Formats: sequence, C-alpha cells, structure tokens
Amino acid sequence: MYTPETSRSSTLTRLARMLRSKPVMRQMIQTSGIRELILGSLSLTRDLSACGTGELRTICYHHVRQHEMRDLGRQLDYLKNYGEFIDVDAAVHLMKNDRFEGRYFLVTFDDGYRDTVQNALPVLVEKAVPAVMFVISGYLTGELHELRADVNGKFLDRQGCLRWTEAGMAIGSHTHTHRRLAELSEDEVLRELVHSRSVLSDLLGTFVTHFACPWGSPGDDFHAHRDPMLAAQAGFSSFFTTVRGPARAAGDVFNMPRDVIEPTWSNWQLKYFFGR
Ligand SMILES: [Zn+2]
Repeated sequence: MYTPETSRSSTLTRLARMLRSKPVMRQMIQTSGIRELILGSLSLTRDLSACGTGELRTICYHHVRQHEMRDLGRQLDYLKNYGEFIDVDAAVHLMKNDRFEGRYFLVTFDDGYRDTVQNALPVLVEKAVPAVMFVISGYLTGELHELRADVNGKFLDRQGCLRWTEAGMAIGSHTHTHRRLAELSEDEVLRELVHSRSVLSDLLGTFVTHFACPWGSPGDDFHAHRDPMLAAQAGFSSFFTTVRGPARAAGDVFNMPRDVIEPTWSNWQLKYFFGR
C-alpha cells in the first residue's frame, strides 16, 4: 500500500545503512541533538505496528528525574498503542512457549535509585503499567553507603523498596555490590548472586527470582558461557542483559535482551528502536 512513509523508505533505508557503516556517524548519533535528528529521520523507514510473529521488548530505564515524569508517561502511552505491558513473571513465562502472537512490553529499572520510587512509581501506577526494579542489595544493608560516597542518598533503602513492592511492583537482583562480573572469579560471582538474592528476599519478605547483570554487555561485563549458568545455580530464573532487540518464543530466559532508553527520548526514537 502506498503511503508517503513508504515512498521515502527505500532512500532512507539506503541512507541508514550508509550512516551506520561510518564510525564518525556512529559517534555523532551519540550526541543528543544530532541523534534526535538522525534517528527521527531513520524512524520513517520503520513500522512499529508490525508485530506478526510475536515478540517481547524489554525496556531498561535508570534515572527518572522529576521533570521527566511527563515524558515517561508520554512514552508509556505511545507504546501502549503497539503492545501490552506485562510483568516480569509473565514475560519470562512467555518465553517458555513454543510460539505466541502479538507484541508485549516489559518495563525494568536498574540500580534502585530513589527517583524510581519518587518519580517513576506514580506514573506507572497512574498508567497501570507493571515494572521490575533490579536493586543492588548492598545499599539496602548499608554496607555500600559506607564503601562508596552516596552523599546525596540517591539509592533506595529497605523502606523505599517496600514502597515499590507494596504498590504491586516486582524486585529483582542487580548483584550485592555492582561489580563487573567479567572481572570476578567463579566463586566471587556465585557469592554476589547468592548473597544478593538471600539479602533481598529476607529484607523485603519477597521471593527474588530475577536478575539483571550490571552494565550487561556480554564479553565486556559478563562471561556469556559462565555467568548466566551461575545465576541459574544461585536460584534465579532469568538473566537480563543490555543487548538490544526483541525476545521471541522459546527464547533463552538466561540471555534476555533489553533496550536501555531515557525517558526524554522522543516517540520517533522509540519507533526507531522498537519498529521494524
Ligand atoms: Zn547497574
């Protein structure tokens, strides 16, 4: 079917391919104004409504500042047009199917910042969007506050995490001390995982079964052939990375892709990353 969008698509697809192949352009895409312009143009070649075969897109947020609350709501409203938001248990369960139809979104937050509860939680509740927050358990026990200068108290304590779970949101582990797993021995990784899981489960009175790897890039941040296996050994039922892209039916729940995004990114950028 002819639309102005498809008429531009072949030229833009060629342009997109050319830009992505140039290191200088890749560098420029990282700069926000230029990035917005380029990704906005490239998004014209993509279609967010196409979701024939079934896919799950997992979004990874970090900070949500007070002035970004409206933007977070805007993003959630936009994505609601193209799929259904589900919670982490449902998402992992979905992967165990041989096939499924449609598109699903899972919202995750890393690190356990205070602003996740202060600013993101009210928006999630208003929009009825479930989410999981992967927290660094050492901040709940107070150990990390002493080791690292958390001068502004930017990480949540136990009380803050309880506000999150009492609102019906899920908690997962993001290790005990947020060290780079790739730099640790097998024993050290296992200690991080087991300790974090038991600390969170005890302090929050909830069964913690999901894990997101710090930084999350295979090779650089974790050993792809070792650490997901150790997470399973430690009793986790998932392992989330930061490799962009969709998860599909019968996917590996110990190698879950996630798209790291910022609440301020425009709907064009969401279309670029989540469309086809
Ligand atoms: Zn992190």
